[in-house]
Amino acid sequence: MNSSGEGSCGLPFVSSPSVLLGHGGGGRLTQQLIQEVFRKQFTSTFLKNEHDSAVVPVEKGLIAFTTDTYVVRPIFFPGGDIGKLAIYGTVNDLAMAGARPHYISLGMILEEGFSLEFLQKITQSIQLAALKCEVEIVTGDTKVVERGKGDGIFINTSGLGSISHHLDIQPSRLQKGDAILVSGDLGRHGIAIMAAREGLEFETALESDCAPLSFMVMDLIESGIELHCLRDLTRGGLASALNEIASTAHCEIEVVEEQIPVHILVQGACEILGLDPLYVANEGRMVAFVPEIQALEALERMKRHAVGSGARLIGRVTSDPIHPGRVLIRSRIGILRVLDLLNGEQLPRIC
Ligand code: MG
Repeated sequence: MNSSGEGSCGLPFVSSPSVLLGHGGGGRLTQQLIQEVFRKQFTSTFLKNEHDSAVVPVEKGLIAFTTDTYVVRPIFFPGGDIGKLAIYGTVNDLAMAGARPHYISLGMILEEGFSLEFLQKITQSIQLAALKCEVEIVTGDTKVVERGKGDGIFINTSGLGSISHHLDIQPSRLQKGDAILVSGDLGRHGIAIMAAREGLEFETALESDCAPLSFMVMDLIESGIELHCLRDLTRGGLASALNEIASTAHCEIEVVEEQIPVHILVQGACEILGLDPLYVANEGRMVAFVPEIQALEALERMKRHAVGSGARLIGRVTSDPIHPGRVLIRSRIGILRVLDLLNGEQLPRIC
């Protein structure tokens, strides 16, 4: 084989250790990539038809449909990788609508020269995450772009989920007095990524919180908690999520700084890096707005799940849904200030 990965007749050798342009060409190499990498992991019966669309059964009720694209750098980081993130992120978006996740589509943009070993590792990680969430990869697509025109691998996943309960979970459902619960300590994902990027070493390995929230959400719904709104705390962290919700709902929100859980290592890293943990990304945390009367019951339910074991009551909705949305935070010394949206991006390519 010559250095371009081509045999003497000009056709690429199959045993190339990295992605070739031909892998995205729709021909024999594409078939090989599908069979030897993807189909080895993804075993859904819906894939076996090898048709242009996956045809899947749906339950009665409503369907939730979401999509997200993952460009995280580095692609492997403490506690996860781009593949795991691409499944959990989309599963979590479905869960935030109160939907039970079922089906996932997987689109990959690979850069020529990307390691096939890495691709296999990521594919394996995707399948493990899908099994954990009880979702199936039912359709997918792969494109290859020329060397230098991508950054290794980008992934897009779309997800379908079903809603078979009566709840209408969205910001406009907020009520004055609603309790605001956060499912755990904040900022782990963002700091794990930053640490990997900057080569920071912590005394204890700090890992991303990357995890599926769907089982905890389903449990809350099944136990009769009248969820008003849910939001996973990804890019922009808690502060951005609260601002988005307050603005959509035209409500005022007040949170208490002392109640917001931040791990001491995350706090320390934020101080070194000049970041505010309330704006740092998470990949396995959410806020829940629940009727005041059910706050403690909801908290107790959340704590039964590993992803919710650090759940806390952090604040309340303090105005009726007609007042313009703003978020206030009561500091440790009792001073009330506005918790604003960030200008620009704190950490690019975090997910
Ligand atoms: Mg989301």
